[in-house]
Amino acid sequence: MRLAERMGRLGTESAFEVLARARALEAQGRDVIHLEIGEPDFGTPDNVVEAGREALAQGWTHYGPAAGDPELRAAVADRTNALRGTTYAAEQVIVTPGAKPVMFFTMLALVEAGDEVIYPDPGFPIYRSMIDFAGATAVPIPLRERHAFGLDVEELERLITPRTRLLIVNTPGNPTGGVIPPADLERIAELAVRHDLWVLSDEIYGELVFDGEHASLASFPGMAERTILLDGFSKTFAMTGWRLGYGIVPAGLVDPFTRLMVNSVSCASVAVQRAGLAALTGPRDEVVAMREAFRRRRDLVVAGLNAIDGLSCLRPAGAFYVFPNISATGLSSAAFAGELLQEQAVATIAGTSFGGHGEGYIRLSTANSDENLLRAVDRIGAFVAGH
Ligand code: PLP
Repeated sequence: MRLAERMGRLGTESAFEVLARARALEAQGRDVIHLEIGEPDFGTPDNVVEAGREALAQGWTHYGPAAGDPELRAAVADRTNALRGTTYAAEQVIVTPGAKPVMFFTMLALVEAGDEVIYPDPGFPIYRSMIDFAGATAVPIPLRERHAFGLDVEELERLITPRTRLLIVNTPGNPTGGVIPPADLERIAELAVRHDLWVLSDEIYGELVFDGEHASLASFPGMAERTILLDGFSKTFAMTGWRLGYGIVPAGLVDPFTRLMVNSVSCASVAVQRAGLAALTGPRDEVVAMREAFRRRRDLVVAGLNAIDGLSCLRPAGAFYVFPNISATGLSSAAFAGELLQEQAVATIAGTSFGGHGEGYIRLSTANSDENLLRAVDRIGAFVAGH
């Protein structure tokens, strides 16, 4: 079959491939522990489910405005301003089906051949895929363990050229759980202003910070007018399958993003947006309880992994991933993750699935029960001892 040339530049997310291999092992009767999935294992809070059900019963079943339900846009702006110290208006919020389209829209609207885009490596694989798809040049900024998987601002400055058009920042980060300290965010903001860069600030894990408060790049001087703030409901409210997210954009991008919505999906599900409104305006105790569970599990898993001879693991400051260093085992990331799944039925993701700088690491998601996490750590210990 002859596909358009651009399809050859489109990547993927290997979490879904690992899940398929793990499911095949389960079909053979193996007891697989799933640490590959990037989604909360908790259910969506009851008040949100109820609001979704009611919305359907009340007839929220037709097309809605392309940029989103006005009440939801206002609630997103209010909540963001309260949590992040920004001064956004409701009109700057574009509601999308999941947050992923915000990456797509940013690339389609802003970059093309000849532009350079700096993106985190290791990082969420869709950034790279979308940069390539848009025909721009992808320039990785390495995230290193010695910087606690934040980023080295001086190294970032050296990567900026007159062609750099967009910088992608993700804090707290997938796959490392690293958080960029506010002092570094301030320096990154200064660079963005000085070099007149657009910034895609992926803050989808912003409410999963364990030590201190989340700081938003958009809140620094001169940043709101050059930042696309990406966030959504998937991680904060355990709503991955509902598909609800948003971008908050400078005034000049509202119309381009709205046109991209009209041309692609028309609007996010109208009933789901009512559920999102309930999530933002309702009680927060379940969100807080989820964060505390992820904190406890992080501590459990990090302690367990560090007790294994041959592994070392930083304590991530956010998100629900840990990113242990496996290089002392002598195995590559891909071999470690592949053999661990085959031999011990623990599904994880090779660090290299998130970019070349992920070599020497694997990603474990802590979105599983304490009991399963402890069983997984035991199996990983047995695996490392046998190699
Ligand atoms: N950004 C990062 C860093 C993620 O890890 C994910 C999902 O795994 C997303 C964005 C996309 O989230 P959504 O489910 O809202 O599309």
